[in-house]
Amino acid sequence: MKLNETPPVPGGEKIVTNTTAADLGNRLPLGFLSDGVQYRDFEFRPYKTKTERELDEVRRNKKLHASPIEWAATVLSMMLTRLGPHNVAEMKRDDVMMMVSSCFMADVLYMLIRLRMIALGSHVKLSVTCARCEHEWKYTIDLDTMDVKVAETPASMSYLHTLHDGIEISGKKYIELVVMPPRWLSLANTRSRRPSDNEVAVLMSSIRHAIPLNPGDPEMPVPESAIDEMTKRDFEVLKGSFEDESVGPQTVFECECPKCSFRNKAPLDWSWDFFFKSPSL
Ligand SMILES: [Zn+2]
Repeated sequence: MKLNETPPVPGGEKIVTNTTAADLGNRLPLGFLSDGVQYRDFEFRPYKTKTERELDEVRRNKKLHASPIEWAATVLSMMLTRLGPHNVAEMKRDDVMMMVSSCFMADVLYMLIRLRMIALGSHVKLSVTCARCEHEWKYTIDLDTMDVKVAETPASMSYLHTLHDGIEISGKKYIELVVMPPRWLSLANTRSRRPSDNEVAVLMSSIRHAIPLNPGDPEMPVPESAIDEMTKRDFEVLKGSFEDESVGPQTVFECECPKCSFRNKAPLDWSWDFFFKSPSL
């Protein structure tokens, strides 16, 4: 079994396109890299009545319930028959779990959204509370029309980010970082549930290495201590670059308040019920 490889450093042809979930279908926004080749297709087994029962058993598993990261990998490993170059149907479940966890976060979220569309259709009701007048209402979105940014080439998966103040590693100054998309697994590597820790974990897994200011110095991996020493301004701008450069499903929806016309931003709700609500529950 091959795990998803690290994207190449920026330099090749960068092509990022905008599409919708309906047009992209069962193709990954980033993809599965194997021997430098980008594989994008995935397939699910048919979603049958008994599938719902099987998934419900996963839902009732308390251990998995406590870990959204693990249940998502479990559900996908149950449902996928093909992922990139791999015939998943012939693989051991544990291997599939490991392979799914090594996928990019955006690809895992996209596969979950596709699964939701197959299981319950593309219309989703979001509960929105207006940020201006506190009016509460239900806003219906159509996942078919959801925007997805697609990395068409392996080089489109990573980007160069320039820091304002820079960081020091082993006494040398670095201002350029090679940043790649975070993997699903990076969420599981957080030791606590504090949001700030999650942010650092995702950041850490996304920075591939730092490029030296002085061309004579070596390229270096970025240790967590260097992130701790980063100025708040650099940290916030780097985090913001994730949003601007992020490839994958755009899971925040704009919706106008029916009372005061304020344009609110409503994120998708990733709870279990949202994805697989069973009529028997
Ligand atoms: Zn309002």
